[in-house]
Amino acid sequence: MPAHRMRGIGVSLILEIGARAAQLKRAGRPVIILGAGEPDFDTPEHVKRAATAAMDRGETKYTALDGSPAMKQAVITKFSRDNDLHFAADEITVASGAKQILFNAMMASLNQGDEVIIPTPCWTSYLDIVRIAGGTAVTLPCDDSAGFRLNAAQLEAAITPRTRWLLLNSPSNPTGAIYSAEDYRELSAVLQRHPHVWLMADDMYEHILYDGRHFVSPLNACPELRERCLTINGVSKAYAMTGWRIGYAAGPAALIKTMAAVQSQSTSCPSSISQAAAIAALEGPQDLLAERAASFQKRRDLVVAALNDIDGLSCRIPEGAFYTFANCAGVIGRTAPDGTLIDSDTSYCRWLLDHADVAVVPGSAFGQSPYFRISYATSQSELTEALGRIARATAELR
Ligand code: PMP
Repeated sequence: MPAHRMRGIGVSLILEIGARAAQLKRAGRPVIILGAGEPDFDTPEHVKRAATAAMDRGETKYTALDGSPAMKQAVITKFSRDNDLHFAADEITVASGAKQILFNAMMASLNQGDEVIIPTPCWTSYLDIVRIAGGTAVTLPCDDSAGFRLNAAQLEAAITPRTRWLLLNSPSNPTGAIYSAEDYRELSAVLQRHPHVWLMADDMYEHILYDGRHFVSPLNACPELRERCLTINGVSKAYAMTGWRIGYAAGPAALIKTMAAVQSQSTSCPSSISQAAAIAALEGPQDLLAERAASFQKRRDLVVAALNDIDGLSCRIPEGAFYTFANCAGVIGRTAPDGTLIDSDTSYCRWLLDHADVAVVPGSAFGQSPYFRISYATSQSELTEALGRIARATAELR
């Protein structure tokens, strides 16, 4: 008997497609999964060793509620070293993944009907987390032609007295678009006129940037937002640690305190062992980040070139993260040899899974159609094979 608040909220479409693909794979089909948002690299060795050492030392108990003192110090050091942002321990919170950080933040700050402005295409979970917390997600479509970025006029027009947050994600899942310092300054000028609107910055893909770009966090460009900005990050994507479940954030102490109260009544604290591992990741050698970004860039180039060679598809060059968000308008309206009409990005993705054994996610899952997302966090040989299959299957559509 689901609660009213859970109406329309299911398992995320991305996880659902992953499950269907895994099912086909178990049945013996050679499915290539380009759906999951996780690096194929292994967690670094020194990180794993830190976890076993923590267990050996007996660090197997509850820790402080929203992060051990050592974990918070590692986060403080990270923000200062990587972002030139300086925080005190009471401005830091640590949770079981950035997803829980988002959840804590929304639960801590939204009253029934409060609005959260979210540019789309966006990571699907934002919308459902806002809804579970009783808020209203106000989505603002950002076109391909605008680089999938929100502009100041759109923001200004969307703000109401009920707006609580603007939620930005750069580099973006699913488009790979990034905001420049100038973009942030233009948006901040709007926020200056609306002091009741806070900024939530999801910096998860900070370290996956291409073509020599340097990361800019909103607070670097707009220090004036410091008292109303929550900066979110985590170790999942940067250090290939999705299964360890550690995310963290920095923001005003009063908000951080309420987020900790939410967490105290759900998970009590993040895993002690994972915190020890995350400390090693944040404080250990950082050269692997650039090496991995370089490897992702090669894969990006391979995927973008292959997609743009396929009649009916087109793809802009992502500036960061490990996704392409390709337009498939050219295949909509075509028919497969078995008579199936490709009438949406969802039916195109279903066709690719069923006839090409490649799992990708339709743009509808991210709030913009007709597109589909490829996660290229997989080997170059698998990507080459998958793109070949997509090209052959798409050529069959008439
Ligand atoms: N933000 C974005 C934009 C993401 O893509 C993800 C993972 N897919 C997360 C946050 C959450 O990451 P985690 O919970 O693993 O820290």
